[in-house]
Amino acid sequence: MLLLSAADPLSITRRRLISAGTVGAAGLSLMGCTGAAVRSASSAAPPAPSLCLPPVKVSRDRVIREIVGLRPYRASGFVVRAEALGAKRLVHNYGHGGAGITLSWGTSKLATQLGLQGHRGPVAVLGAGVMGLTTARLAQEAGFPVTVYAEALPPETTSNIAGGQWLATGHYDRGAVTEAWRAQFRSATDYAYRRFQLLVGDDYGVRWVTQYFETSPTPPGAAVPSRGYATQPNWRRLQRQEHPFPFDVRQHQLMMIEPGRFLRRLMQDVQIAGGKFVVRRLASPTEVAALPETLVFNCTGLGARELFGDKDLYPIRGQLVILLPQPEIDYALGFQSHGGGYMFPRSDGIVLGGTHDENEWSTTPDPAVTDRIIVSHQQVFRTLRCRPSGLTSA
Ligand SMILES: Cc1cc2nc3c(=O)[nH]c(=O)nc-3n(C[C@H](O)[C@H](O)[C@H](O)COP(=O)(O)OP(=O)(O)OC[C@H]3O[C@@H](n4cnc5c(N)ncnc54)[C@H](O)[C@@H]3O)c2cc1C
Repeated sequence: MLLLSAADPLSITRRRLISAGTVGAAGLSLMGCTGAAVRSASSAAPPAPSLCLPPVKVSRDRVIREIVGLRPYRASGFVVRAEALGAKRLVHNYGHGGAGITLSWGTSKLATQLGLQGHRGPVAVLGAGVMGLTTARLAQEAGFPVTVYAEALPPETTSNIAGGQWLATGHYDRGAVTEAWRAQFRSATDYAYRRFQLLVGDDYGVRWVTQYFETSPTPPGAAVPSRGYATQPNWRRLQRQEHPFPFDVRQHQLMMIEPGRFLRRLMQDVQIAGGKFVVRRLASPTEVAALPETLVFNCTGLGARELFGDKDLYPIRGQLVILLPQPEIDYALGFQSHGGGYMFPRSDGIVLGGTHDENEWSTTPDPAVTDRIIVSHQQVFRTLRCRPSGLTSA
């Protein structure tokens, strides 16, 4: 899992730094690079990189919480499919692995297109994670009354635990998906990418940031790809002298979603549009069939394994360590060396993660894993080659 990017004013500051080594008004936290460059030159050390980033302060006493979530993974990919359940139409929308926030609007769009066509009357949505809430909103936008039935509401959902990068990673096995599924994936990605852009701002907790991601060195003479995917704008490999990281990196801009804020706002939107929430666990298809609505969307995430008997669905456990917020950190980072990990900058804290444990069901944080996450990130942030002045080491 990885990171993000910025088309916001700060990215302009950063671009200025890259090109000219100067600092814009919004870049006070980056000041000091010039001094670092002068010191490096006088001591004959390698020249300081032109991009100077503030380090994340990684230490135990800055940890504000440790959390664990279970990614609802299927090797053959998410399920968006309609079937009959007695006299009802049941539309599945679950199994998004480590990409549920990213794909949410997209697969929910596919699900509602499948379900709503020709339907009349109220709609039931099972689940109040990101899939249930986006499905509910899209059904409401199409003019249907909605009731959401869920065992747990935000903030008690897996969706609240997500790191929040808008990047579809870790949700399928290349060898196990069909061409038809790939077409659904493309369509979902396209819609979700555009829909999230409409929500950029503090109210939904969505913003653009720059993501740096460790990449393997380019062999001498090899062609350097100049861009990635259409949904990863401003993608490029950075030259060693351009960036402060202790490994080769590429960058791109991506949206970062703050799940707590985003889900809270979606719940409000559902309620404002007349939607109802019923806190209830559905224990079997028979109970689902007894609901009053004749159209039901199944957005129960990992819960679909038990509720509808999908044994291809299993958890990939992820543990996160959240550090005190550091407002000056406006970039994200992913790396495989130094033990591996990722860092997301959010207003509710700096998110450190990178663990993927297949078929692990425990949601209790493991102190040894917390230690590993802290150590790997300390190693990286201690070795940033350029430090803005006034910032202490990690
Ligand atoms: C550590 C971690 C980091 C992640 N980072 C990212 C990221 O950066 N970007 C990204 O895109 N994705 C990320 N994800 C993945 C993302 O969190 C999931 O794919 C997404 O939350 C799945 O959403 P969902 O709505 O399907 O499930 P959930 O959020 O689990 O919601 C399921 C809902 O269904 C309800 N439910 C379940 N069973 C029943 C039942 N029998 N009866 C009634 N209600 C039921 C639950 O109570 C809940 O309301 C991450 C996940 C983890 C764990």
